[in-house]
Amino acid sequence: MILLDGKKTSNEIKEEIAKKVELLKQNGKKTPHLAAVIVGENGASLTYVNAKVKACEKVGFESTLINLPEDTTEEKLLDVIRDLNTNDEIDGFIVQLPLPKHIDEHKVTLAISPAKDVDGFHPENLGRMVLDLPTFLPATPYGIVQLLDRYNIETSGKSCVVIGRSHIVGSPMSILMSRNNKVGNCTVTLTHSRTKNLIDYTKNADIIIVALGKTEFLTGEMVKDGVVVVDVGITRVKDDTKKSGFKLLGDVKFDEVAAKASYITPVPGGVGPMTIASLLMNTLQAVETK
Ligand code: NAP
Repeated sequence: MILLDGKKTSNEIKEEIAKKVELLKQNGKKTPHLAAVIVGENGASLTYVNAKVKACEKVGFESTLINLPEDTTEEKLLDVIRDLNTNDEIDGFIVQLPLPKHIDEHKVTLAISPAKDVDGFHPENLGRMVLDLPTFLPATPYGIVQLLDRYNIETSGKSCVVIGRSHIVGSPMSILMSRNNKVGNCTVTLTHSRTKNLIDYTKNADIIIVALGKTEFLTGEMVKDGVVVVDVGITRVKDDTKKSGFKLLGDVKFDEVAAKASYITPVPGGVGPMTIASLLMNTLQAVETK
């Protein structure tokens, strides 16, 4: 079994980006600038946003964190987005999800200028992805594609099962794995909570991408020998032995599945760091394609 090390791979990508940023600076070009907006005090979201800002510093980007209170109105948030859309200093920005219940996530996603939508969630960018046109790919699926690519995992002609059909992970992932590309050309089955006899699909899959948010859901008996497994799930589980008071668990019962897998991502240190690397790649692309 080979570990698909997202931490190591994302560090390699960050080093490559840092070199490109250095060149931009030497040539008198603009330093990429990413802004992140967060509403409220959700602990996990704050951790993710802070990690994104720290990653910007590491590669030499400028970054701006806009921290809005939990009771921010939808209109106020939309105003902030409009300002970011027209601010020439900002090359790309993200609005960290989930948002408080009184704010409509779809309205927010639609308000972001597609040219600055480095999370790749805007319908225009998703549409461009489907049509294979240049775009910002959604950060987590893009990170998974990068990881499979950099480990030279053959995907062409393979059977791929994606578990979970969210708009930000499962659905775009299924499209990327089926399109005619170096990482792609799979025969994809997109599964969800209404799928009957899921094991019939997973047992025959060469590649399984698990993104449902249920800890240790995929077990050893559900997979065949030699399978490639990508675990997107991140759930905080109380653990008093940790300083933070919690540990992170994925959607895969790691020990059981790793014993049968040819390649597998760990949690943490798998897909999470790759999502951040993709965000940086998209932000650099926003500057390079201006
Ligand atoms: P989500 O929006 O909650 O969607 C979960 C999906 O799983 C839904 O499509 C749901 O089906 C499906 N599902 C639920 N129970 C199922 C079952 N028993 N069998 C098959 N499918 C089932 O989740 P998400 O936003 O995609 O996130 C999934 C996980 O990934 C979470 O743990 C999240 O924290 C993590 N995540 C990690 C990263 C990262 O960077 N590593 C990024 C994003 C998300 P229905 O559509 O039928 O309800």
